[in-house]
Amino acid sequence: KNLRPIHIVGNWKMNQTMHEISEFFIEMTKMKMELKCKAWIAPQALHIAILKEMAFTTGSIQVGAQNCAEVDSGALTGETSPLALADMGVEFVIIGHSERRTIYGEKNELLNQKVLNALKNDLKVIYCVGETLAEREANDTFKVIEEQLNVGLHNLPADKAHLVLIAYEPVWAIGTGKVASAEQAEEVHAFIRGKLEHLKDETVILYGGSVKPDNIDSLLRKDNIDGALVGGASLKAKDFRQLCSIA
Ligand code: PEP
Repeated sequence: KNLRPIHIVGNWKMNQTMHEISEFFIEMTKMKMELKCKAWIAPQALHIAILKEMAFTTGSIQVGAQNCAEVDSGALTGETSPLALADMGVEFVIIGHSERRTIYGEKNELLNQKVLNALKNDLKVIYCVGETLAEREANDTFKVIEEQLNVGLHNLPADKAHLVLIAYEPVWAIGTGKVASAEQAEEVHAFIRGKLEHLKDETVILYGGSVKPDNIDSLLRKDNIDGALVGGASLKAKDFRQLCSIA
């Protein structure tokens, strides 16, 4: 586990006004404390540039995107180019979040194209996997996750594997207040690590799903849980800060 730095990644989804973003960074700057973990935030695409400027003042927060296109450029109205993200100095991109999979119908094959293209641009990729409640109840959790890994990370070049992080996000735990128990999460994290083709011991595997300052500690104590992908509790500086200091 020592090989893998703890990452706390805020996924702001489609939230935050300019006023709220300013407040966030004013609060973060006030609470001057060395961040020991890696603290990353993915705002909506429109706010990436401004966030990069503001994050600069707090030093160590890295900024990423919540999604990107599967190609670098072209007639894809409304999409975000991974080439443009890299060109802007964006550090990472989340690919395959369950909201992209369910609301926008993104399938493993498309996600594979997105992953490979983001890596080609040297972006770090947080590739998300996770089962729905129906899949868990049908005992299909491992089958679903294996498929998401096999197809989504197909043809992953060994020399880019160091740029990949995995997020295990059980769909039934996202935004529902129902956090998976540390044991439930660890079981899946260990399974995922066993399936990795490259850098089995080095790859960071995040847990996501209703993580809060009061439940992160027991998750991070597990051998294969290397941090968290956090929605709701990343929006307020106080919570985000607290998550980072517990980590
Ligand atoms: C997420 O969006 O990835 C997430 C885990 O959300 P929440 O923390 O709100 O459940």
